[in-house]
Amino acid sequence: MDGKKLRDEIVAGLRAEIDALGNPQITLATVLVGTDKPSQIYVRNKRRKAEESGMVSRHVELGADSTQQEVEAAVRELVDDPAVNGILVQLPLPDGLDSERVLDLIPPDKDVDGLTERSMGRLVRGRPGLVPCTPLGVMRLLARYGVPTSGKRAVVIGRSTLVGLPQVLLLGRKGVDATPTLAHSRTSDLAAQCREADIIVAAAGMAGLVTSDFVKPGAAVLDVGISRTEGGIVGDVDFDSVEKVAGALTPMPGGTGPMTIACLMENTLSAARLQGAV
Ligand code: NAD
Repeated sequence: MDGKKLRDEIVAGLRAEIDALGNPQITLATVLVGTDKPSQIYVRNKRRKAEESGMVSRHVELGADSTQQEVEAAVRELVDDPAVNGILVQLPLPDGLDSERVLDLIPPDKDVDGLTERSMGRLVRGRPGLVPCTPLGVMRLLARYGVPTSGKRAVVIGRSTLVGLPQVLLLGRKGVDATPTLAHSRTSDLAAQCREADIIVAAAGMAGLVTSDFVKPGAAVLDVGISRTEGGIVGDVDFDSVEKVAGALTPMPGGTGPMTIACLMENTLSAARLQGAV
């Protein structure tokens, strides 16, 4: 399952959609605090893809020594600006800053990361809203590559509010109709749990955790985990062994990562629609 290819399709589709709408100024605001290298790269890619999608990228950068008040004031300004359709605060924030209090400021209709309490509430309640980008990207990959979900068993490894938990909710949604299991660091015999699954989503952040003996022949395996090693970025899935048994598999890099960005762009257009701006 090629995440780069699907990202490019989604970005091109958004560009065409925005063009057909008469090119309204749909604005994604990114907020970066501090000098964390991976965060800088993620934000740069998000800004670039926003522009390629035909959107306006607005960027706010604050120093690593910013106070809680300064970060909150910057976010409030974006909240109050009607020209801003989506707000993304790149996490993690530097030590000493309370990200929960910052996220609490973002109204659900501008919450393109789908991470705030109210967005999560909408997801649980099945109300229209913005859904976290990484698990949404996994759903897009399953759909694009024709992986059946209805009545299928899924195991999601990891229970964070960023990935694992919303992933379980999306897989179990009406219309998707999978039966997901939420596995985590205390799950006993993870390999046996996974062997029962038609779909495995690995989001633990443990390099090479999922080996071929975790995978039922023909199962779809989606690798979300990112570990930085001397040899480069590797995922939670031992690609070479799993490739031999899986029916469909995402590479790392080149799978779920690009899809996260594509879904951020999708969410920004959805945000503009929720606001009645387009
Ligand atoms: P997290 O640390 O908040 O959560 C990790 C989860 O994995 C925990 O719930 C933990 O219980 C579980 N876990 C850890 N070790 C385990 C083990 N040995 N067996 C079973 N479960 C185990 O992390 P997160 O924010 O959910 O991110 C997970 C991974 O996904 C990280 O590597 C992160 O870098 C990556 N990530 C990737 C993308 C992407 O676009 N591909 C996006 C976000 C996060």
